[in-house]
Amino acid sequence: IPSNVCVAVLTTGGTIAMRHDEMAGGAVPQLGADDFTAALPPDIPKLCTEEIVNLPSSHFTLETLETIRARVVEWIEKPDVAGVVITHGTDTMEETAYLLDLTVPGEKPIALTGAMRTASGVGYEGYANLLTAVRVAAAPQALRLGAMIVFDDEIHAARRVAKMHTLSTGTFQSPAWGPIGRVEGGDVIVDRRPRRKLLPWRGLEPRVTLLKLTVGASPGLLEGALARGARGIVIEALGGGRVPPWWLPTIEQARDRGRPVVIASRCPSGRVWDPYGYPGAYRSLDELGCLFARGINGQKARIRLMVILATAETHEEMVNLWREGDL
Ligand code: ASP
Repeated sequence: IPSNVCVAVLTTGGTIAMRHDEMAGGAVPQLGADDFTAALPPDIPKLCTEEIVNLPSSHFTLETLETIRARVVEWIEKPDVAGVVITHGTDTMEETAYLLDLTVPGEKPIALTGAMRTASGVGYEGYANLLTAVRVAAAPQALRLGAMIVFDDEIHAARRVAKMHTLSTGTFQSPAWGPIGRVEGGDVIVDRRPRRKLLPWRGLEPRVTLLKLTVGASPGLLEGALARGARGIVIEALGGGRVPPWWLPTIEQARDRGRPVVIASRCPSGRVWDPYGYPGAYRSLDELGCLFARGINGQKARIRLMVILATAETHEEMVNLWREGDL
């Protein structure tokens, strides 16, 4: 890329920025943007940096996500920026990636990365991940891929990727789909190009609840969420989208109160759909007006519903927005 063009590295904390601290009794965020840039080799594009926050991603609020989005939009719009890298805790990285994928206009690559080992631990992989993310953010072949998680030399589409292991450095996987590309040495290899559909943006509706179904579960979980004022509910249902039949009356109540119920699956991969005719299966949920999270997990369905509920003014608009991009 031309020498006046930079890759923006926006830092937000996470293990990639953490070192052991005697007083805290464990690793806490310490590294800043200068530490990152100083650690990378000279044969890379120019870097521009901004520290947005320096937190574990489990401390992020919805406002933190909105701030990160706003900063990404501002950097992406600059003509002398090729793409954006965001360093981020791995715990909620997939949610930030998906939010950016859904709502940041433009063609430039957005590469999120982090680390599973702390910067004071043996085998810290943060700088290696950062380097690959910078290469992806600068690569013309990564244009129009939306937001990605670049980790362990793999490139994952925001829509498919999930944190799959609590400790492994290969924690990010796209179950059933695999990575869309790889970084090998200095080469960025893109093997598949995901479709992307932007949603209009007016912020995140915070009153959206995610519930997970378990065998024999009481619908009290859903009743409680409605009673506490949930504007929308995502249920990680069983298998291809099934609930116990005794949940149906409460789902019907939610519908009658204009509270959308989105059905995702608690299975780590696969679409929501089934061929059954018994109560509580896909067809009966469809008849009750439930929406389906076809190929996204529960936490991403929650983000998607939060974006849509903040912007849709009518039930019909909400349903259309959900279905349009539900690829
Ligand atoms: N606790 C860390 C976080 O901020 C985990 C990580 O970055 O890997 O999400």
